[in-house]
Amino acid sequence: MKFTALGGAGEVGANSYHLEVDGTGILLDAGVHPKRYGMESLPLLEALRRKEIHAILISHCHIDHLGALPVILKYFPTQRIFMTGPSFPISMRMLHNTVTVMERLKEEKGVSEYPFYTHQEIDMISNLFQAMEYGKPFRIPSMNGYHREELEGVFLDAGHILGSAGALIRGKEGTVFYTGDTCRHDQTVIKGAIYPKEKIDLLILENTLCSSVEAERKKRGNEIQRLAAEIRRVITRGGTVLIPTFALGRTQEILSILDRLKKRDRIPDVPILVSGMGKVFSKIYDRFALQTRRKDPELLFKNIQTQSLNSKNSLTRRSFKKPGIIVATSGMLSEKTPANQLTYGMLENPKHGIFFVGYLDEDTPGFQLLNTPPGKEVTIDSSLPPRKKVCDVLTFRFSAHSHRKEILQIVEELAPKKVILVHGEKGSVGWTAEMIREMDSGVDVIIPETGKEITL
Ligand SMILES: [Zn+2]
Ligand SMILES: [Zn+2]
Repeated sequence: MKFTALGGAGEVGANSYHLEVDGTGILLDAGVHPKRYGMESLPLLEALRRKEIHAILISHCHIDHLGALPVILKYFPTQRIFMTGPSFPISMRMLHNTVTVMERLKEEKGVSEYPFYTHQEIDMISNLFQAMEYGKPFRIPSMNGYHREELEGVFLDAGHILGSAGALIRGKEGTVFYTGDTCRHDQTVIKGAIYPKEKIDLLILENTLCSSVEAERKKRGNEIQRLAAEIRRVITRGGTVLIPTFALGRTQEILSILDRLKKRDRIPDVPILVSGMGKVFSKIYDRFALQTRRKDPELLFKNIQTQSLNSKNSLTRRSFKKPGIIVATSGMLSEKTPANQLTYGMLENPKHGIFFVGYLDEDTPGFQLLNTPPGKEVTIDSSLPPRKKVCDVLTFRFSAHSHRKEILQIVEELAPKKVILVHGEKGSVGWTAEMIREMDSGVDVIIPETGKEITL
């Protein structure tokens, strides 16, 4: 077997991995780097020179796993792209939205190579997508098409967002399990991940939270109580709460938490505003409510009262006139997003609160803002003058990733011969490597480098 990271080695970046099993080339995910622009945001396509891709497996539809797919297909007109049933409609919406974002960034940030692909091209590639059922084996074709000795693939629920999956690949050379983004514990909407029961030769393991002691210690229930208390405080003083989130996954988790808190009178009954893409994905969550593993299969987002946050009210003071809660993208406050623009309007008013609920990558405006002392100036949009941080800026832990103890439990349970550590900053990956070596279980730990082929 051979493995090459094209991105996602020592970082949470443009996650994409080339795997060769029994001579068949498989691409695991095709993401773009969430905080880079233009060519810089793509996986290292050069590392694919002289390699073949017979099939592409997409673990889930966050942009750091999906955004480069149409670009890669231009160079490798692969016949088959496998994903789960729910991921199919989500991927279409996500890619079309990415075109819109790229077109906007071309204008606003002058990224000349954008858009990498068009709406039309997405429609054209959609017939290559194959939606597979969770737990049901499928054949992965090789260059000569299907024949008896093909590899077998199976998607197992990864518990991260709707449609997320770990990919199990069975071949003659060995059995590989790629976790994708994986969450071992239950969230509010989605149940925790399922892992393979069989012997694994190679585990490709995500490490997002492995440098965080806090993620491991913070209890979900306590975080929900703390969030409720802080929301009450802001609303009572007449302010607005902004919760910057990813539109896919985190928005739905937060909406279900807010709904429950409202029903139990833990927070005041104020309007909840949600940005457009969040609403789009909530609809898809509803569509698959009975077909996917849910904590509460009866929870439907269409029954949670929300208002649309559109571009008309997002930039004006209208959104802040009356107390309310706004759930808007992006989770890390990337420039030119609704959450970033809203934050700019809220920062200097002590009434308001900005509450982060997810992972913040260093060098993102969200990270900058959180780590600026109160009263000091902070730049959250490089094209605008800095503003003073006056309003409350807090962070809460509602992770959709396994914390580091859970990551080690996965290694212990699966007891693979080899583990490749990906999707984590160097500190995260280093921590996991050290802990696995200390376990003294004979698991061979590999830390990959971008573009370097590893023979296994
Ligand atoms: Zn993800
Ligand atoms: Zn990811």
